[in-house]
Amino acid sequence: MKPAPFDYIRAATIEDAIAALSGSNGTAKVIAGGQSIVPMLNFRLVDAPLFVDINGIQGLSGVSENEKGGVRIGALTRHFELETSDLIRNHYPVFHEAMKHVAHLAIRNRGTIGGSLSHADPAAELPAISVLLDAEIIAIGEHGERRIAASDFFEAPLTTCLHTTEIVTAVELPRLTIGTGWGFEEFSQRRGDFAVAGVAAIVTKDGDVLSDVRIAVFGAHNTPLRAVRAEQAMREAGIDAAVDMLRLEIDPSGDLRGSKDYRRHLAGVLCKRALHGAMERAA
Ligand code: FAD
Repeated sequence: MKPAPFDYIRAATIEDAIAALSGSNGTAKVIAGGQSIVPMLNFRLVDAPLFVDINGIQGLSGVSENEKGGVRIGALTRHFELETSDLIRNHYPVFHEAMKHVAHLAIRNRGTIGGSLSHADPAAELPAISVLLDAEIIAIGEHGERRIAASDFFEAPLTTCLHTTEIVTAVELPRLTIGTGWGFEEFSQRRGDFAVAGVAAIVTKDGDVLSDVRIAVFGAHNTPLRAVRAEQAMREAGIDAAVDMLRLEIDPSGDLRGSKDYRRHLAGVLCKRALHGAMERAA
């Protein structure tokens, strides 16, 4: 299919982009990598009178260490750059692992982290990694800049707390404790497909005590979910208790690729594997 007619501008600065979004009374849309929005336009699932292309804005791309010892990722950083970044591989191996599951090379060459987070597909890897790693999402709009915790950012399928005139400019990840173990498990029907379900976990040990346990689920809830009750069960009673709690905590939908019950079962299996992986890797 072909999209409905629309106007297009290529913004040179963030100010230009925000002015264009504000001038359209919230009806214009940002376009970044175009890997989600263009197919939706072609299927006429999205209709906007104006698209504001942010690819020409300088300074929105790249992975760098920030002053807090964590990592700052510009919103226009392509998936391929994340996949091949030494900073990501060394500081956040769970993130590096997740990138191997995102779409196909041609899509990873264009798709951006800002686009993936803003698109907020509950089965996508990057939103889940952002809630797992306690990311802060930085957005600028007509009222200035705000920093949004990833756990507050995702509100419903394909829905975030971003205002229609706000642009994500960067994502910041706090540093992880040295020796943090990780596990990442995803099941999809073909390599590069969106997940039927997936679980990412990290575990930090302090002697015999688990000082940090984090579990993020994707594809098995209406948003990427930090399974905080399963995390507590893991700290108090171990992996099997965490798996049981996770299955109660999620609320999956059924579709052609798997029923609600199948996804609930699958998420538990993946959680068990991810937690075993994280425990084995934790120093
Ligand atoms: P765009 O398509 O340009 O935009 C997506 C949405 O975000 C739009 O609503 C746009 O207005 C908004 N937006 C974009 N950038 C910003 C910004 N900086 N600030 C505010 N709003 C913004 N993804 C996965 O995670 N896992 C997969 O397995 C996967 N498989 C795929 C398979 C196929 C066949 C295809 C076509 C895509 C797949 N994707 C997958 C999606 C891909 O990762 C997209 O690149 C990504 O979701 C969107 O990034 P984008 O930069 O292309 O955003």
